[in-house]
Amino acid sequence: MKRSIEQSAAAGNGAAVFSGPPRRLVILGATGSIGRSCADVILNAPGRFEIEALVGGRDGASLAKTAIALRARFAAVADPTAYGELKAGVAGHGVEVGAGPEAVTEAALREADLVVAAIAGTVGLAPTYAAIAAGRTVALANKEPLVCAGAAVTSAARASGAKLLPLDSEHNAIFQALGGRNAADAVRMTLTASGGPFRDWSLERINAATKAEALAHPNWSMGPKITIDSATLMNKGLELIEAHHLFSVPPERLDVVVHPQSVVHGLVSFADGSVIAGLAMPDMKTPIAHCLAYPDRIASGASALDLAAVGQLTFQRPDLDRFPALRLAMAALRDGGGAPTALNGANEVAVAAFLADRIGFRDIAPLVETVIMQLARADELATPTSVEDALAIHHSARDRAEALLAKN
Ligand code: NAD
Ligand code: MG
Repeated sequence: MKRSIEQSAAAGNGAAVFSGPPRRLVILGATGSIGRSCADVILNAPGRFEIEALVGGRDGASLAKTAIALRARFAAVADPTAYGELKAGVAGHGVEVGAGPEAVTEAALREADLVVAAIAGTVGLAPTYAAIAAGRTVALANKEPLVCAGAAVTSAARASGAKLLPLDSEHNAIFQALGGRNAADAVRMTLTASGGPFRDWSLERINAATKAEALAHPNWSMGPKITIDSATLMNKGLELIEAHHLFSVPPERLDVVVHPQSVVHGLVSFADGSVIAGLAMPDMKTPIAHCLAYPDRIASGASALDLAAVGQLTFQRPDLDRFPALRLAMAALRDGGGAPTALNGANEVAVAAFLADRIGFRDIAPLVETVIMQLARADELATPTSVEDALAIHHSARDRAEALLAKN
């Protein structure tokens, strides 16, 4: 991550001109919503980045296109059945290809200045953890690994010296608001939530919500799993747990406020009453560009924030009665131990079941709650300190959720 910087008057716009080699990147989850925004930022900054490796799930053709556009050296798909598509797609372009879990790990461990972790879900844990344990700087979009195995991930980072850069917009805003100060100096950290598509809906109407309604997020365009989590507000709960691990802040210093405009992303309050907030247009290209160039600044391609055009910034408390998933996540954060791991595992199954039309929107939170209660009764919620322990709870929670679904 070392590069010499020459501030050039010729740049004129306050941007720094960099000498030194381009920053070498690995992107895990290159074909998803975050991955595509990363590609936009990279293509907007010619000569600044080199792509060592890209990883996709099972979308070989789309990964091949991205690999060619970004001139990647290596591209790997997790699903071996997508290998043929990937190989055919990059033919003649000099891109090495691989498939399966070993190829994904190889990509995560290739020599790089920065690894972007943007796989959706806890399946991102293994490659993200490998990069962290190897001491890489990791820009974390993928929140589920921290929620599932926060203690193991953060202790691996401490042991290897890996730096974690928060890419999730709220955590990125808080990181910037801290401005290098110790997180212990903060008396409160506040994450904003847009409130999702059902922010002003009655409980009755939310309970009957359809998949199309839940997938229609008002401010953000994201992958399906996080979009449903944003409709239940589970996403904000996962983000509280993520913030707890990223910044080592106790649960009682973390807070959520609903902010429909999604312009203020995160706030840090200090003992003297000062509050420093991070503002930006709701466009993930901004936190992505911040992480990719950190500690430098580059243009992201996101539109500039025009506060007068936005007009009003409004705030309200989250309603935990209409959004029980957030209440469950807050309780899991307070309870600690294996509760966040169980919450996350059960939620993955519940969201997948909702997306597959197996359950209704109203069934998501109760399914998660039942699984956590079952695991608590079975005494299976001890604090997971290793990835193996965390995955044992994760899979137990998933299996119990599947068993409950099978009964219906
Ligand atoms: P997405 O569904 O659009 O993309 C997921 C990516 O992961 C794709 O490239 C897919 O091919 C890949 N993938 C899926 N299964 C895989 C596997 N087994 N192995 C390797 N790769 C696999 O998701 P997204 O919206 O880009 O979100 C990615 C992560 O970033 C999530 O954890 C989400 O919570 C987080 N995040 C997203 C946003 C956003 O605006 N989209 C904002 C903040 C945080
Ligand atoms: Mg977020």
